[in-house]
Amino acid sequence: MRAVRTTSQVGRQIVVAGGGLAGLRTVAGLRALRYDGAVTLIGAESRPPYDRPPLSKKLMAGQLDDTTLEPDLGSLGVDTRLGETATGVDAGPGSGGVLRTDHGEHRFDDLVLATGAVPVVLPGQGRQRFLRTIDDALTLRALLRPGLRLAIVGAGWIGAELATAAAGRGCLVTVVEAAAAPLAVAVGADVGALTTGWYAAAGVELRLRERVASVEPGGVALSSGGWLPADEVVTAVGVRPAVAWLEGSAVALDNGVAVDEQLRASVPGVWAVGDCMAFWSRRFQRRLRLEHWDGALRSPAAVAASLTGAPGGYDPVPYFWSEQFGRMIQYAGFHGGADRITVRGDPAEDRWAVFWLAGDVPVALLTVNSPRDLLQGRRLIEAGAGADATRLADPGVPVAQAAGG
Ligand code: FAD
Repeated sequence: MRAVRTTSQVGRQIVVAGGGLAGLRTVAGLRALRYDGAVTLIGAESRPPYDRPPLSKKLMAGQLDDTTLEPDLGSLGVDTRLGETATGVDAGPGSGGVLRTDHGEHRFDDLVLATGAVPVVLPGQGRQRFLRTIDDALTLRALLRPGLRLAIVGAGWIGAELATAAAGRGCLVTVVEAAAAPLAVAVGADVGALTTGWYAAAGVELRLRERVASVEPGGVALSSGGWLPADEVVTAVGVRPAVAWLEGSAVALDNGVAVDEQLRASVPGVWAVGDCMAFWSRRFQRRLRLEHWDGALRSPAAVAASLTGAPGGYDPVPYFWSEQFGRMIQYAGFHGGADRITVRGDPAEDRWAVFWLAGDVPVALLTVNSPRDLLQGRRLIEAGAGADATRLADPGVPVAQAAGG
């Protein structure tokens, strides 16, 4: 257990803006480290914090209806303000400041920004649906019925998961993707292409290299001049950090709240966690903004530690998973600096993996139905050491035994 500041923090005020997983983990982390000062959690949604990954999976498939994480924030001694939206920050070179909201003002000694991300909206006059909140998910689920013509714009993680659930409920699903392959933005077209066949096998029409110009009543207009009729259109072309409300403040933004390795923003006493933070990764020597549940889970511990006088710091090997078309996909690392890939196993089968390497050092891997490979590969990446690519490619050799180049 790390050292915790022993002096009482009574009289100190920490404000957390954003009531998602990262906001919840921040307040819970502070209390776990025996912070006894005041904490206020401000969340724009009227619900207590809930989990998002099941929204496109079990909830959409009808296997659960509620993903609430912590219904009783009062038990943590947190002043919780739900249905309240932060609108601005007044903070300068000195410590502390004021958070402005649509309900008033909150003075803070420290402010933790945890406002997450919001879906990108396409142009057009037609109704677009999204899949970010539990209300989005419940609304969408109620619409899914056999024969519904559902157009999903974007073959990323959310598009693929929704297509899985909608096809399972008998919808006529068309996924329109501007890139040459599904998941191209996330993992590159070469690796994403290995998942193309999953769509047809599930009865989903996948249209690649097809850009949507706008969403209109009755369907989507394609940049090629074509028209795709649809009863419902779900836009799943990615998210952007929910930081527009910070523009013009002293808090520096760089595709999210720019924070250092300690998750400190440019203004003293301001921090950021989860999807809204763009943190400096010592491991990968670049600024990263990730949209991973694991980051929202773990980054708050680093801030809570710093705020209570324990050693902080955040230098993760990023981790993400997705469940689509009956498969479990897991990804660890960051492949931005890779110069080659090596495929392990046969992507035509149900179990395979891809490693990205920079020289002979594995920097990322994606696994399909291979949790053991993921675990061992993640350790290799954490170690940052070289590996033998031929052994990595051989499913008969445990990944751990490929270490050492
Ligand atoms: P959020 O969950 O976005 O929470 C931020 C909260 O802040 C929101 O409630 C928002 O309303 C609130 N807020 C925004 N602006 C303000 C403001 N100005 N004032 C007050 N409050 C504000 N990740 C995985 O790794 N694996 C998965 O399989 C996976 N599946 C997913 C499926 C879906 C459908 C979605 C939507 C996401 C999925 N993710 C997955 C991503 C993961 O859920 C996110 O990375 C995680 O939720 C981020 O948590 P967060 O608290 O940083 O942000």
